[in-house]
Formats: sequence, structure tokens, C-alpha cells
Amino acid sequence: MSDEATELAELRTRLKRLVDEAAANEQKLQRTLERELELLRAETLPELFDLLTDGLADSYGLDAVRLVLEDPQHEIQHLLLGLGQRLADFPAVSFVDTLVGLAPQFAALHRPWLGGFMRADHGLLFGSSTELHSLAFLPLRRHARTIGALCFASQNPERFTHRQGADFLQHLASVVAVCLENACNRARVLRSGLSDYLTGWHNRRYLNARLREELARAQRSGASVACLMIDIDLFKSINDSYGHAGGDEVLREVAARIEAQIRASDTAARFGGDEFTLLLPETSLDDAARLAERIRAALAVEIELNVGPPCRVTLSIGIAAMKLDQRGEDLKACADRLLGEADAALYRAKATGRDRVVVAAT
Ligand code: GH3
Ligand code: MG
Repeated sequence: MSDEATELAELRTRLKRLVDEAAANEQKLQRTLERELELLRAETLPELFDLLTDGLADSYGLDAVRLVLEDPQHEIQHLLLGLGQRLADFPAVSFVDTLVGLAPQFAALHRPWLGGFMRADHGLLFGSSTELHSLAFLPLRRHARTIGALCFASQNPERFTHRQGADFLQHLASVVAVCLENACNRARVLRSGLSDYLTGWHNRRYLNARLREELARAQRSGASVACLMIDIDLFKSINDSYGHAGGDEVLREVAARIEAQIRASDTAARFGGDEFTLLLPETSLDDAARLAERIRAALAVEIELNVGPPCRVTLSIGIAAMKLDQRGEDLKACADRLLGEADAALYRAKATGRDRVVVAAT
């Protein structure tokens, strides 16, 4: 082969390598973005913990992952217990008063640290495993404070070395810190007693507070406020056939289907048991009735269940609406009247055969 031909062949090989590398990088970036989106979508602390430990170990091919969180007041641990979780269910998550002392690198962990596994230094984190050979420590920081560390371990000594760039890990650490903060905030809201744990909806206590605010606003604007009382028909038979867990699944799905039909400005609350209440500002009786029919139609599709064959449920819905005069009616009395009228309409829907919408007489 001539020199020129050899050079050309070499160039071709180099070009192919570059193209392959670019494709591999593109794939890696895509996987990373997908993983980050998944983390950002995690709604609860347990879900997030699973994604951060088993999830990341799987997707990055790591031999061990440990999440360490500073929790000196045991607040996060109590949030988890409040969600009905046991700490033992998260063996790869540790709660400590302070990170300092767990590993020498934790004393000033502001950027990811990458390096070799040392039994003496890292035994507290990963046990004295002789299998592990390299580590990455990612500092989790929010509001200029370290809230924890995400620790990756690999049996491959070359997987994490101090020579590597850490921009990607730094980025991941920032996303994880935000996700943790959000999940803790959501758990705090649930604990504050204004939410219903099963559906994530507001509870009756929140509804009562909100109802007065909405009525005060309606009094100022002169607009009509509507209220829907929704009750699942013969729900006891669902519990009887599928057990309480099946009943819970149905409650969650019914809530989700109702939620898909309403506006962000509407208030949805679980009134209790199998009864849901919607509060619709600036809505007439006619508009509320149209929404009620849409909600019934959304339940026409069977509900898939983990605990057994799919099932169908129907709803009875009572609707009331009111306009307040500007002279300052007693808001508490108005709230009671609106709920009472919607409830009476619901009772009539039940009494006249269920699976229907009844509008309160005006
Ligand atoms: P109706 O058509 O007259 O409404 O009949 P129903 O069987 O639905 O009667 P009702 O609304 O009075 O029954 C509600 C049932 O919901 C009773 C209760 O055992 C059950 N329940 C209440 N809270 C929960 C819950 O959180 N989970 C489950 N699975 N069941 C619940
Ligand atoms: Mg019912």
C-alpha cells in the first residue's frame, strides 16, 4: 500500500473511532437525562430512596451505593415513619448527626471526591469489603449547607480516579439535592394534617378552611361558587371482593380520574371514606353539572388492579351552587348551607338509584 493509502486508512479508522465515541457519549447523555427526569418525578421519599440506591446502582453498573443524610433532629426519620415506612426497609440509606467522621473526605466535601477504596478509611461506609476498589463521594448541598452525601463504589479500580473530571457527578449531585429537598417538603405537608395520605388530596380540614376563603372571595366578586359531593356507589362490595388493599387502589384511581377533569383553581378534597368534594370557584350550576357528567364518563373505563381482575365503579354526585349577596352574610352559615345542599342532592342521587348526578333545587 502506498504511504498515501496507509495514511487514508489510518484517518478512516480514527474518524470511525471518533464517530463511535460521539455515539456512545450521546447514548450516555440520553441515559443520564432519563435518569434525572425519573428522579425529578419521584413523589415520595421512599420512591426517591429506591431510585437513588438500587436505581442508580443498576443504571450506572455500580457495585454499591450508599446515601448518607445528615438528620441530627431525626426529622427525616420521623417523616418516613409518618409515611408508614420502616427504616430497615432502606438498608442503603444512613442517617447521621454529622457526616464528619464517617470518612476523612467528608470533612470538607464541597466537590465530588473520586479515588481508591481504603479499608481503614471507608469501612464505616461500606464495611471492610475487599471487593471494592474505587469510590466517588458526591456532596449533596442546598442553600450553602451540606445535607448529605451520595457514595458510589465499584470493584473496578479505574472506575473512579482523582484524574477524572467530575462535572457530570457534580451536576447529578445538584439534581439529587433538589429532589431530596422537594420530597422532604412534600412529606412535611402531608404531616401537617391538611392532606389525605391515601390520595395525596387535601382533607376535610383543609376544605373547611378553603371554603370560607372561596366564599369570602365570591362575596366580593359576586360570582357563583359550586360544590360537588361525589360518593362511590356500593364501595363496600369492592372492599368485600378485593380486600382493603384493593379498595385503596380503587380510591386512588377514582381520585386520579376526577383530578384529570378539574382545573388548577378548583379545590379537591377527600371528605372521608369513599366521598370526595370539589369546590369550583366562578362556576354556575350548569357548568358544574357538565363537569359532573365528564367525571362519570371518566369512570366508564374499567380500573386495573394489582390485587385482582379489573373492576368498574359508578359514582353518585350531588351539586349545589350559591351566590352571596354583598351585604356580608355569615360565611360559616353559607359554607354549611352549600355543603348541606350538595349533600342532600347526593342523598337523592343515592335514593333514586345511584350512578347519577342530581342538582340541588335552586
Ligand atoms: P353507597 O352506594 O350507599 O355509597 O354504598 P357504599 O357501600 O359505598 O356505602 P358507604 O359509602 O357508606 O361505604 C363506604 C365504605 O368505605 C365503608 C368503609 O368500610 C370504606 N372505607 C372507608 N375508608 C376507606 C379506606 O381508606 N380504604 C378502604 N379500602 N375502604 C374505606
Ligand atoms: Mg359509597
